[in-house]
Amino acid sequence: MQSNCQTCKKDFEIRKEDLIFYEQVKTVPPLYCPDCRAMRRLAFRNERTFYRRKCDLCKKDIISLYTDDSPFQVYCHECWWSDNWDPKSFAQDYDSNKTFFEQYKELQRKVPRLALMMINSVRSEYTNGAAENKDCYLIFAADYNEDCMYGRLIQRSKNCVDCAFIYDSELCYECIDTRESFKCMYSEQCQASSDLLFCYNMRNSNNCIFCVNGRNLSNAILNVKYTKEEYGKKKAEIFANYESIEAAKKEFAELKSKTIVKYASQVKCHNVTGDYLHNCYDGVRVFDSSDAKNCSYMGDAEDVIDSMDCNNFYYKDELCYNIMGALQCSKSKNCAFVFYSNELEYCENCHNVTSAIGCNAVRKGEYMILNKQYSKEEYCEIKNQIDEQMKQEGTYGQYFPPELAPFGFNETLGYDYYKITEKEAKEKGFKWQNQTTGTFGKETISEKNMPKTIAEVAEDILKEILVCTDCKKNFRITKSELDFYTRMNIPLPHKDFECRHKDRMSKRNPRQLWHRACMCELKTHQHGTEKCSNEFETSYSPDRPEIVYCETCYQQEVS
Ligand SMILES: [Zn+2]
Ligand SMILES: [Zn+2]
Ligand SMILES: [Zn+2]
Ligand SMILES: [Zn+2]
Ligand SMILES: [Zn+2]
Repeated sequence: MQSNCQTCKKDFEIRKEDLIFYEQVKTVPPLYCPDCRAMRRLAFRNERTFYRRKCDLCKKDIISLYTDDSPFQVYCHECWWSDNWDPKSFAQDYDSNKTFFEQYKELQRKVPRLALMMINSVRSEYTNGAAENKDCYLIFAADYNEDCMYGRLIQRSKNCVDCAFIYDSELCYECIDTRESFKCMYSEQCQASSDLLFCYNMRNSNNCIFCVNGRNLSNAILNVKYTKEEYGKKKAEIFANYESIEAAKKEFAELKSKTIVKYASQVKCHNVTGDYLHNCYDGVRVFDSSDAKNCSYMGDAEDVIDSMDCNNFYYKDELCYNIMGALQCSKSKNCAFVFYSNELEYCENCHNVTSAIGCNAVRKGEYMILNKQYSKEEYCEIKNQIDEQMKQEGTYGQYFPPELAPFGFNETLGYDYYKITEKEAKEKGFKWQNQTTGTFGKETISEKNMPKTIAEVAEDILKEILVCTDCKKNFRITKSELDFYTRMNIPLPHKDFECRHKDRMSKRNPRQLWHRACMCELKTHQHGTEKCSNEFETSYSPDRPEIVYCETCYQQEVS
């Protein structure tokens, strides 16, 4: 059935599978299109915009997702998890004279928020949206890593620096969408490979430079085999200095734009639309996900089933709808950051909770509404009242409204995927953050005086203040970062982390799909003298230079 989005006024489709799901999880069809739904959720996730402020409990200086003039109470990690305060002390009675969201907003303003969202990590204070990390620094949406720095979506990896969307890998640098790989640099969409440099979409390969779509290749340059000596010579040429690496980056971008690409990066997937998927089936508009079964409208999900409209959604979640950030939750709807919990609605940052509505920062409990404890009977009665009231207000079943998002839209992951202006954001009801982070003009070393090779760099560099080529923000090099560059023979970066991250994101396709046809005209294929007639949903927009193939044609060309 067709519906019209109440925010952007565009028509969108509600599939019959969607309707069955809404019935199954006891909700109503959405009033907003998939993009507007995603924007509302993503506006709750500030991943990388950090500010200096004080903890509102211990008064220590901390790094936080919130500015010091934010309306929220913000606690450091130690204080938030301590017994020095009680989330239940903020309990509010439900008041049917006010809207549910008005009441939730009052609670939200009182209850302390975590400075950074980090769970069970060791010596990894500057990580966010992250769990179970050891000795990591500035990594986001990252779990079970060791000695990783500067990256987003890093999973179960070791010693990886400046990577994005990297899984089960080690000693990689500037890699994107890479799995089970070792010592790869400046490469994209590679799997089960090692020692790749500037390679794209490789499998089971090693010691390759400028190779694309290779399978079981070794000692190859531009997909042609060379002797070990010739290969070593080329590698040394590329790694001669900063300029030679920059030139290689340009050459690789050129190579990539002319290559054959599969319509979507889907491995072991069946009956699913979307991109960057691994072992997913039965769903539409799924992005950056692994092992998602019967899930639709998802982003950044792993090992989950029977859910829709969820982001950053991990570890055996099931039957969930419209959630930003969950670990092991079931039967929950319209929440942000919920962990090891069941049957939650409109809850934020709750852990080990069963059956709750409108709760914030509760760390254990059941049958709770607005942080207040009830008996099962009372809970069911008030829940019915809230449902009825929200149905009358026209908010029933919909996500938290944009004004309840705790950040400016431009501070959040929403802005990574939806580049709207301040005016557009405000028209949609989102906030906007005008306060900037970092310093400018304090550099002690100019870009033109930067050392060209890592061999010229001494430990004094740790005392210097550098300047980003792109945004002119100052940045520093950390000791473990310098050790990594030295170990890998990489020159110092000329950009700060944020600009490096943006560069990586710009190399990936957007979370959007276009209906296109296979571009293959190879007469040796099953379609003979005719052009291939296969069609698909692809994240390659029609105006892009790549040659986009269907699965069948692509497989014939790469294996
Ligand atoms: Zn919309
Ligand atoms: Zn504190
Ligand atoms: Zn910059
Ligand atoms: Zn084809
Ligand atoms: Zn073909």
